[in-house]
Amino acid sequence: MPYFDFNAHMRRYKLVPWRVARVGRRVRHTFAQHFVLGAEYKKTHNKIRTATNTLRELWAQRLLELVSRRLWFPGSQKPDPHHPDFDLRKFELTYRRCLFCRPAYLYFAWRRKTTATFRPCHKSQICPFCAARVAAVNYRYVKSTMRELVKKAPRTKCVVACRIVGRDFLAPAFHPLHGCEDDQISEYIKLMQAEIAAHKTAYQQVAKQLQRRTLGSMAHIVVVPLAAGWRVETRQFVLQQSNKSWPRVKLRNGKVLYAKSAPVVACCTPDGAKFFDIFGAFSQYPRSLLTGYVEFTAAYLVSTAGTRLSSGTGLFKKTGRRLIPYYRQKDADARARKKELQASRGAAENDL
Ligand SMILES: [Zn+2]
Repeated sequence: MPYFDFNAHMRRYKLVPWRVARVGRRVRHTFAQHFVLGAEYKKTHNKIRTATNTLRELWAQRLLELVSRRLWFPGSQKPDPHHPDFDLRKFELTYRRCLFCRPAYLYFAWRRKTTATFRPCHKSQICPFCAARVAAVNYRYVKSTMRELVKKAPRTKCVVACRIVGRDFLAPAFHPLHGCEDDQISEYIKLMQAEIAAHKTAYQQVAKQLQRRTLGSMAHIVVVPLAAGWRVETRQFVLQQSNKSWPRVKLRNGKVLYAKSAPVVACCTPDGAKFFDIFGAFSQYPRSLLTGYVEFTAAYLVSTAGTRLSSGTGLFKKTGRRLIPYYRQKDADARARKKELQASRGAAENDL
């Protein structure tokens, strides 16, 4: 069998050039821009375009790094490309989908005519654009839930709150210049799994109370690669009756990194800035997954493959990725109704 140069093969995949036609102006678009590109970012349309292009290049680079060092393969954990059972064609399709994933907060056109239509890759644990997509539907869902609450009871005392608790841990024997040996990565994976299990247990201890004492709650575990290790965070978001204490995840030696609350009435103002900040903190994408050491990103990806990192109770039981098809259907229905209405109006005018 002739030698197959897998890395050279993967390098052939270049980003398809695109042209940003328009920057999305809906609040959920703005929310996604805010949350992927960074909270302090001063947003003008030009800056959003540039930042998105940079992000897209970083994502493509990271993907190639992960794959060519055999650290993580999208779609499967760590297969060997030289193994006879390796399905190159199938792998390439997944890889392409990841590489050509695009943000939903921009309207754009491919520069070159491509026959392929690219669907989102749905790897929201790492892909910034899919993470933004999930955050945007969450935002939409929470916002509409709050709006209904205020509509029913304009003087409601309900509040929303977000709390982030995190704990740092170091990667043993990691050298900033030389990185580490591959067997060390498997040690890191074990460490990471233990850390995530600890966060999950901490959450399990309050899950029942959350169900009882809040109207709705969301929680997810986020891994942020640091200069010499990771920070694992549990982010909690709750909607509850009044500003009383609510069940919080407690971690030994955990640091509270963020804690803020606001009355729902104040969140439903037209600009909704308060809610924007609070929910932004909950949804922030950790950019160091793309810019930090690739070994750290790989340890996170491999150790969390197949585990659920987010969960919800009460009103927010159905959140995250599961909302994407729900809203897609809803939007399609709305469009169909609008068309029907226009058609019936046209018919009425013709009758006259
Ligand atoms: Zn994606």
